[in-house]
Amino acid sequence: MRLKFWGTRGSIPVPGIDTILFGGNTTCLEVTLDSGKKVIIDAGTGIKSLGDKLVEEKKEVDIHLLMTHIHWDHILGFPFFAPIYNRSSRILIDGYQTCMKGLRNTFDTKMGDGFFPVKFDDLRAEIRYLEKLRHGTLEIDGLMVDSINLNHPQGGYGFRFRENGKTLVFITDNELREDGRRGKLMKDYVSFCNEADILIHDAQYTPEEIDERRDWGHSDYRSTVELAYRASVKELILFHHDPSRKDQEITTIKSNCEELARKKDSALIVKAAQERGELSL
Ligand SMILES: [Zn+2]
Ligand SMILES: [Zn+2]
Repeated sequence: MRLKFWGTRGSIPVPGIDTILFGGNTTCLEVTLDSGKKVIIDAGTGIKSLGDKLVEEKKEVDIHLLMTHIHWDHILGFPFFAPIYNRSSRILIDGYQTCMKGLRNTFDTKMGDGFFPVKFDDLRAEIRYLEKLRHGTLEIDGLMVDSINLNHPQGGYGFRFRENGKTLVFITDNELREDGRRGKLMKDYVSFCNEADILIHDAQYTPEEIDERRDWGHSDYRSTVELAYRASVKELILFHHDPSRKDQEITTIKSNCEELARKKDSALIVKAAQERGELSL
């Protein structure tokens, strides 16, 4: 399986001179399976450039789009995803239960009511909601996808991908908590992420910021390192960078995480997600 980041930012796109290294587009990832099949995660603004690339390649677009949830920063790019305007495209959608409502609402609320010049029902591509993940594992060309509920306002899903003995976990917009009356706890995520080769996890805040932002549904980087450590993950990728964070500050956060891992005598590799960055596993 190969992976490419098309959007790494949280909350709002922030292009500009302060975000050149890690990127300003919001959440979108491209996962290419060993079979060549493509799975896209989320339709943040990063999906625009990915769509342009798919159209340029002039191959028929036959993809799965998995949606974590429908906050703006995860759906905003969908009307600009060029393959939806081609009759030959086939887009199978799965993910959090509100995902179709969110994607449709970037165009209209079934009435063509003026949010966007095009109506959702006039899109040319075949767009179908699978609704498999809410009932269990989704299989795509030998890839097994499982989901876990997020601690995030209005909810959402994190995903675990397993293919040919390799495991990739993607969890964004998630507040890691050691205790609480509702929702999943740190220990639940530790077992979901157990021995993953790569874990990509929300690390929007610093430990100094988190107390002011409890219940906003995001994690501080210290909790994220703790999760990776307790789950014996090989490589951690910090994700959903705060929109106010400049490149240099993200570099410092990454170094701080490496230091935290060193103090635990852990061989954990830490990276910060970079727009257009690629990985294989
Ligand atoms: Zn988000
Ligand atoms: Zn969110």
